[in-house]
Parts: sequence; C-alpha cells; structure tokens
Amino acid sequence: MTELTNKSALELAAGLKSGEFSSVEVTQSHLDRISATDDDFNSFITVTDELALETAKAVDAKRSAGEDLHALAGVPVALKDLVVTEGVATTAGSKMLENWVPPYESTVHNKVKAAGLPVLGKTNLDEFAMGSTTEHSAFGNTRNPWNLEHVPGGSSGGAAAALAGFQAPLSVGTDTGGSVRQPAAFTGTVGVKPTYGSISRFGIIAMASSLDQVGPMGRNVADAAALHELLAGHDPLDSTSLPDEVGGFLKAAQTSDLKGKKLGVIKQLAGEGYQDGVRTAFTAALETAAAAGAEIVEVDCPSISYALDAYYLIMPSEVSSNLARYDGMRYGLRVEPESGPVTAETVMSATRAAGFGDEVKRRIILGTYALSAGYYDAYYGSAQKIRTLVQNDFAKAFAACDVLVSPTTPTTALKFGAEKAADPMALYLGDVATIPANLAGIPGLSLPAGLADGLPVGFQILAPAREDIKLYEVAGPLEAALESAGGRVLDTLAEGLNAK
Ligand code: GLN
Repeated sequence: MTELTNKSALELAAGLKSGEFSSVEVTQSHLDRISATDDDFNSFITVTDELALETAKAVDAKRSAGEDLHALAGVPVALKDLVVTEGVATTAGSKMLENWVPPYESTVHNKVKAAGLPVLGKTNLDEFAMGSTTEHSAFGNTRNPWNLEHVPGGSSGGAAAALAGFQAPLSVGTDTGGSVRQPAAFTGTVGVKPTYGSISRFGIIAMASSLDQVGPMGRNVADAAALHELLAGHDPLDSTSLPDEVGGFLKAAQTSDLKGKKLGVIKQLAGEGYQDGVRTAFTAALETAAAAGAEIVEVDCPSISYALDAYYLIMPSEVSSNLARYDGMRYGLRVEPESGPVTAETVMSATRAAGFGDEVKRRIILGTYALSAGYYDAYYGSAQKIRTLVQNDFAKAFAACDVLVSPTTPTTALKFGAEKAADPMALYLGDVATIPANLAGIPGLSLPAGLADGLPVGFQILAPAREDIKLYEVAGPLEAALESAGGRVLDTLAEGLNAK
C-alpha cells in the first residue's frame, strides 16, 4: 500500500495545501490501489478514473494560481451508487437502472464538485439500499477487507469497504435504517447519519423518503466531520431540507473533552441477544469514557422494543410507493412480455419481474399489503403511532443526558452464507440499534471500539435532532481515549494488508 493511500483525508488536505504532493498524485495512487484490490473487495460498481484525474488536474492548476480553495479540495471521495451523477451511470445496485445515465445532477454531487473533490467512482450497495450485507446488489457481493469471507455490511457496504480497503479516504453513503452506521461498524470505520433533512436528498434515489438521509463516512471522526460540513446545509430543491446553518463539527471533534459529558446507555439496547465480544468491547469503551471524565447513566426507552416492527411496516410502505416509478415507460429497463399483447400493464409486469431482485420484490409486496384498504389502520397507522412514541422516549431520555450510546450492531460482520446472512428475518433483527434514530429523525454516529474475534465492533452515539455537533463533541475525544488505551482499530488491518 503506498503511503498516500494510508493517509487520512485531513492529512491529505494538509499535504496538498503545503505542496508536499499534488491532487493528481493523490488521486492516481487511489486509482492504482482500486485497480490492484477491487477484484478482491468489489467496492466499486463504476470507477470514474478520467473524471477524477480531470478534477485533480483542475484543482492543482487553481492551487498553483493561488486561488482560494475549499479545505478538502483535491482530496478524493467515493460516492454510493444511489447518488445521482449527471452523465455518469447511476445504478442503485439494480438491474432496473443498469444502463441509466442521469440527465441531471444531485445536490450532493454538486457540492462535492464545487469544493473540488475528485470522485473516484460509484460504490456498491444492496439494491435500492435494501439490505444489510451488500449481497442484494445486482453487481456482485462486496467483501469485507478485514476478512474476505465476511460481509462488509450494508447497504453502503461498498462505501465502507472502499475506506477500510484504503481505496478512498472519504465516502458518501446513505442511511435509512442503519446503512451508514452498520457497515462502518463492520469495517472499523466511522459513519454518520445526520439529522433528517440536514443534507439534501435532491438526486438521492429514494428508498423510504421519511427515513432516508445521506451520511458522511471516513476512517476517523475528524475526516467524517469535515465531509459532513461540506455536505450539510439548506437546499431549496429538497422540500424536507432544514433551514439550519450547520458547521463547527470538525472543531468540536478536535477540541472537545469528555469531562462532565453525560452518556446515557439505552437499557433496551445494551445486552440481550448481543454477541459476547460486542458486549465486552462496548463495556470496555464505556469504562474508557468514564476514565476520561464522562458520566455514565442508564436510560429507559421502552418503545424502542417496537421500533423494528414499526420500521418494517413504514419503510416497505414508502418503498412500495417510491418504486412505482420504475414502470418500464419513463426511464431505466424496459422489457416487453414474451408472448401476448403489449400493454402498459404487461410491460410493467415483465419489466419489474426482470429488473427487481427478490428483496426489493419482498418489500414492495409487504408495503402494498400494509397500505391496502382494510389493513392501513392496523399496520401502517399503528406503526406511525409507535414512531411518535419512539420520538417521545428519545426526548425524555435526552433530558437526562447529553448523548445516548449503544453498540451499533448486535454482532460483528457475518460470514457469507452463514445461516443468519441467508435468513431475512435474522438480518432485520440486526438493525435493532440503528433503526430508532431514523424513526425519530435524530443524528447518530458509529465509531470503532476495538475488536471481537478479529473483527471490528461499532460504538453508536445518538444526539437530539439538529444537534449533530454533540455527536462530535463526544466522538472526537472518545476516539482519542480509545486509541490511547487500545491503539487504532484500522492500524491492525493496515498492517495485515501491508504484509500481503
Ligand atoms: N438494513 C436496513 C434495511 O435493510 C437498512 C437499510 C438502509 O439503511 N438503507 O432496511
């Protein structure tokens, strides 16, 4: 692994600024690393090498001309292939959009372009972001750089593997029920799900609109904070975009202290059904936080026990409505029936049969059922009531502490083909700790808290809505305390990859 791909995003930014190396060199070294490793990891669906080098060249030229540049200008980034990129294929991990080249631009990509970050490519994901392993991609499994026999998590599995595999210093993912935090946990990286509405969803292919949120990912808290600042902010093109001015995340991550911070351990998410090694690492991290001056309290959020059930009604309901647009008429795949008349209905049916994978079909059917007359009140209506209860529980809990904490996931990364990875119900249960934040619209962050049986464990921090800065006020100093106690989790992997 070359030295440049080992560096963090902020180290790269500093070296670019001081002239130690150029963006073309940095970008090329990441592209080389992708071509050397992506047969193993399959993090990328599309690598955009020419575009990336073009951006890098332009940034280098501007820098030599003395122009004012964004702090991250010239630092490469990878985008989950759910982020629309004008002129560059955007697949959502689905056969349905395999050959779709968007005629418009997402706000996220616009911001990345305006700041001058070379885009290395589009990363692999579960089809339309539905899944927890990246096994539901139409473009093959992504493998976990820690151990190729294990899943990288999902749905932003490619985004996380690109970071852990040192293919990209920064990644953009999306999180509807944990899809940024869970793959971050499985790969020993940092993933953030911001407050709902704080990063524009314009040009993010919709899964479940009331839950979807773009999430910055990095190999450490400060990198994720810097990317978060770049992506956040009001967007008139997104009707759910918040008007808030956001910022100060990086500074909070770098200068905060754990002294006097109250961390509330969510009783419902602290133990039962969790892998022993996960519980041990989580408890040890709490002890480290306490030793650094944090106060640990226990909080009760009883409605969280129903959050998973509510999510698996609300999410598929929104999925069934959002995915109705893939009808074989407007864009994407179009398949005509093999026999019989060619009508709107037969084309729609043949297109969807061929274009959607099993998991997507399962959720569309579930959602259509939950919304149908006669069942609406019993299923969708009740789920919405639980959503309100979860929000109320969080509000009460935040009155008693600064942030809430839990393990990010009940287990470490599953093995491909393991009993659990093959059982959709068991996989749904793996989302138990991440989903409540999406239902409540609050921000969450996962950072690595050591290893269990050689695989990373994620530590989740949750903050009140619109107070994302609190995530960084705790995550920054906690990361520092954990690293001085037990070393950097990703260093273990870097050593292993170097030895190869
Ligand atoms: N794993 C969850 C699901 O399958 C979350 C997906 C996501 O956040 N996009 O729905």
